[in-house]
Amino acid sequence: MTGQTADQAREEPLDAAFFVRWLSTAAAAVEREADRLTELDSAIGDADHGSNMRRGFRAVTAALEEEPPASPGAVLALAGRQLISTVGGASGPLYGTLLRRTGKALGDTPEVTPAQLGEALRVGVAAVAQLGGARAGDKTMLDALEPAAGALGPSYATFAEAARAARDGALATVPLQARKGRASYLGERSIGHQDPGATSSALLMTALADTAGAALTGEEEGR
Ligand code: ADP
Ligand code: MG
Repeated sequence: MTGQTADQAREEPLDAAFFVRWLSTAAAAVEREADRLTELDSAIGDADHGSNMRRGFRAVTAALEEEPPASPGAVLALAGRQLISTVGGASGPLYGTLLRRTGKALGDTPEVTPAQLGEALRVGVAAVAQLGGARAGDKTMLDALEPAAGALGPSYATFAEAARAARDGALATVPLQARKGRASYLGERSIGHQDPGATSSALLMTALADTAGAALTGEEEGR
């Protein structure tokens, strides 16, 4: 043990390597869950959300491996550009905007705090809402992203709360009628199905919590 306390570990800044780990953890989750995302999209969409996300996150992983950027903001901006240029569906520009605008809000500082990430993510989520003209309750990714961004606070512990809020938000889309995106064409028939984009958003927030949790555990073990 180094004698470092868990509280000190939680104040550990988040650097570019942390953000690369987050996105590669997210990419692995997308690979694992792609069939499920496509299955959800086949019920209320056009059965391509899993393949869209897989194509996008493979491009993200490849770009980050080729030329890992020096700051958290640059990592997110590069990932966002990859999603916009490789994903044909609505989710590409929306997730691309989320990451680009979050990255831009972080600026080019080499390390950020959890509180700064929370603030930046709220800027990114607002940009998604503006681009897609949707808000929480419309049965979209925002039903997971908004509560998750709202839950992010000053400590690593809030990363787990954000992941839980995103998963709860995704589950809560089941009884909703879609008011935006392809699923809205179904009207009342969209009721009773979980939104694919809210589900993938929960994967991304869970990947963030897993990455932060691993960092915290490492510190606690004095590694
Ligand atoms: P497409 O709908 O073009 O086939 P995807 O299947 O990849 O694209 O993504 C569908 C998901 O995108 C939906 O489940 C929903 O969460 C999200 N989405 C669609 N339109 C919007 C919008 N206007 N605002 C926010 N999210 C949206
Ligand atoms: Mg689709």
